[in-house]
Amino acid sequence: GAQRTKNVLILMSDTGGGHRASAEAIRDAFRLEFGDEYSIYVKDVWKEYTGWPLNSMESQYKFMVKHVQLWNVAFHSTSPKWIHSMYLAAIAAFYTKEVEAGLMEYKPDIIISVHPLMQHIPLWVLKWQGLQKKVVFVTVITDLNSCHPTWFHPGVNRCYCPSQEVAKRAALFGLDDSQIRVFGLPVRPSFARAVLSKDDLPVELEMDPDLPAVLLMGGGEGMGPVKKTAKALEESLFNQESDTPIGQLIIICGRNKTLVSTLESLEWKIPVKIRGFETQMQKWMGACDCIITKAGPGTIAEALIRGLPIILNDYIPGQEKGNVPYVVDNGAGVFTRNAKETARIVAEWFSTKTDELKQMAENAKKLAQPEAVFDIVRDIDELSCQRGPLASLPYEFTSSISSLI
Ligand code: UDP
Repeated sequence: GAQRTKNVLILMSDTGGGHRASAEAIRDAFRLEFGDEYSIYVKDVWKEYTGWPLNSMESQYKFMVKHVQLWNVAFHSTSPKWIHSMYLAAIAAFYTKEVEAGLMEYKPDIIISVHPLMQHIPLWVLKWQGLQKKVVFVTVITDLNSCHPTWFHPGVNRCYCPSQEVAKRAALFGLDDSQIRVFGLPVRPSFARAVLSKDDLPVELEMDPDLPAVLLMGGGEGMGPVKKTAKALEESLFNQESDTPIGQLIIICGRNKTLVSTLESLEWKIPVKIRGFETQMQKWMGACDCIITKAGPGTIAEALIRGLPIILNDYIPGQEKGNVPYVVDNGAGVFTRNAKETARIVAEWFSTKTDELKQMAENAKKLAQPEAVFDIVRDIDELSCQRGPLASLPYEFTSSISSLI
C-alpha cells in the first residue's frame, strides 16, 4: 500500500574528517535508491541548537588543528571512557532541552550520526522520549582505522565501519557482531559512479595532453605542506638537460584562499594549475596519475576509487594517523613528511619506476569500495522496514525531558 514518507536526520559537524562529505554522500544515495520514500535532513544540530562548547566545535577544531600539539592533547586526553562520558553527560544535562527540540523538530524515523560526538546525547534523548523502539539510530564511522572511542555506543542499531580494523575496534568497545557492518567509507555517488574517459578529461580540464600529472591537495581546507611540496615538485619534474618538464602539477587548495593567491604569485617552470574549491573532484582525480595529500579519509577513499597511488605527506594527529598504515600496508601508497622526498618519488614514478606506479594503482583499485554508500543506505532501509507497528504510528511527543529533570 501507499506508505508515508519517512524522515531521515543526518547529524554532522563541519569539523573536517570528511563528516560533511559523508553526510552528503548518504543523502544522495538515499535519493538515488529510494526517491521520494525518504526525506533527508542534513543537520549540524550542535551548531544550531546548543551553546558553548558544542556550537563552537567548528571554530575550536580549526584553531586546534592549526596548533597541532593542542589538538593532540585534546584528542588523547578525552580518550579514556570515563573522562568523555562525564564531559558529555555534563554537556547533555546542560543542553538536553535544546538538543531534544532540535532532534524532534524533524520527527525522524531514522537518525544517522556521522560524527564521533553525536551518539551519546541523541540516544539519551530517544531513551527519555521512549522512542528507542520507534526510531532507528545508526552510526557511520568516517575514520578508516584508528578511531576515537566516542564513535562506539552499544545503544545503536547499527555501526557501519569502513574497514575490518575499525570493526575489530568496535567489537573491543562492546558492540555486538549483529550491530557491526563493514561496507567501506561512504563516497558521493556522483564521484563513485562517475563514468569518465581518461582521454577526454585533460582536454575538458585544459591540461597538457602529453605529460603525466600529479594532483596535490590538503583536504577541504587546503592544509599541510602544500607550498613547500609544490616548489620541490617544480624542481624534480623539470629536466635540466633537455630544459623540458617531465610532468605537470595540479594544486587544489580547497577553501584556503590565501594559499591560492600565494601560489598564483609565483613563477613556475613546469605546467601548473592552481585551483580553489572544486566541486568536480572525480574529474581532477580521473585526469591525474597520482595524488599527494594529507591523510583525510574522504580524499583517500576517493583516490582509491580512481585508482590513484597516494603519497601521504601529513596527518591530523589522532583521528587521521591510522589512515596512514591503511594506505601504506595495503600497498596503495607511501608516507613521507619530507617535501623533497615526495618530489623525488613522483619524478621516479613518472620516469624510471612506472611499474611501481602501475602496481600501486592496481592495489588502490582493489581497496576501493565505490558501492559502500549504497550498501549502507539499503541496510538502513531494511532495518527501518523491519520495525514493528510502533514505527508506523504517528510521531508524538511523550513528555518533554525537560519536565523530567
Ligand atoms: N574536496 C572537494 N573540493 C575541494 C577540496 C576537497 O570537494 O576543492 C573534498 C574532497 O574530495 C573530500 C573532502 O573534501 O571529499 C575532504 O575530506 P577529507 O576527509 O580528505 O579531509 P577534511 O578536509 O575533511 O579534513
